[in-house]
Amino acid sequence: MNSIAAPGKPGSDVEGPTPAGPAPGSPFADLHLHTLFSDGTFTPEELAVRGGEAGLAAMSLTDHDTVEGCGRMAQACQALGIDFIVGTELTAEFEDKEVHLLGYFLDPHNAPLLAEIKKFQAVRQSRIHEMVARLNKINIPLRAETVFALANCRSPGRPHVARALVQEGLCPSMEEAFERFLKKGRRAWVPKCKISALDAIALIHQAGGLAVMAHPGLNHCDEIIPTLSGQGLDGIECFHTKHSAKMSKRYLNVAARLNLLVTGGSDCHGYSKGKPLIGGVKLPGVYLQKLMAAHQNRGGHRAVVMGTSS
Ligand code: AMP
Ligand code: ZN
Ligand code: FE
Ligand code: FE
Repeated sequence: MNSIAAPGKPGSDVEGPTPAGPAPGSPFADLHLHTLFSDGTFTPEELAVRGGEAGLAAMSLTDHDTVEGCGRMAQACQALGIDFIVGTELTAEFEDKEVHLLGYFLDPHNAPLLAEIKKFQAVRQSRIHEMVARLNKINIPLRAETVFALANCRSPGRPHVARALVQEGLCPSMEEAFERFLKKGRRAWVPKCKISALDAIALIHQAGGLAVMAHPGLNHCDEIIPTLSGQGLDGIECFHTKHSAKMSKRYLNVAARLNLLVTGGSDCHGYSKGKPLIGGVKLPGVYLQKLMAAHQNRGGHRAVVMGTSS
């Protein structure tokens, strides 16, 4: 594996709304990324190259409800000398709260995981039909075929509907598409298939993975973190593009108090405000080392950490 040196004190990289990086030269990771295997716009190869340009020592691909892009991404990372961790992002719920769970170090061939993912994907596909039907009902003439052609993947989602609306000249921007139609509670919003958070954690564990709560600051679910921690949650994503410096510090404290692992990532879906978001959030190497150590303590083996090293 690439050697990962310890950075400065925890949280020292938290400077502004988007955490800046650790000291120049010290290694860091981006562990929350999407490709066109779900609702991102980069291929795995493009993402790996962008990660290399951003100076990342490690990356994980966390496409929604799929691990399909991980093989290609692992190969591309290997060619660039970057460590790669197989991942996914599942939408779950607990006590009526929606939570996103990141699975890391998953066995990409695990049969129960692949079977569940297939169900989530089927629901995502029928949800596209339902969102389009709701749009049609309010006289927005979008066709489901247009969305599927644009998405061209097994895990289509709201961003594909938004892009299709823009492409067809039915809405000026993606932001407006969400604001007018697709945000929770809007006319074309359709809930997604949600696994219970406890089942999602168990699913990730049985596939050899670690379960991490994504962007807790966006889901307003702080009160359930201690419960989930007692039920097997392994970590929380303290560093995220949409976490303020204050939020990141708060979650670092929560993680320390509950003895949870700390992760972070940009949640890059492609370009944002004219530049790729990847590498915009930098997880200091010390946290990555702890994550790797936790995986190995669970009996994890190198085969699922598709890296450059021995
Ligand atoms: P879905 O999984 O189909 O519900 O879509 C969720 C994805 O939509 C997120 O991962 C974001 O990429 C994107 N998203 C959610 N809310 C917004 C928003 N208000 N504006 C733009 N993109 C959004
Ligand atoms: Zn997304
Ligand atoms: Fe998410
Ligand atoms: Fe995400």
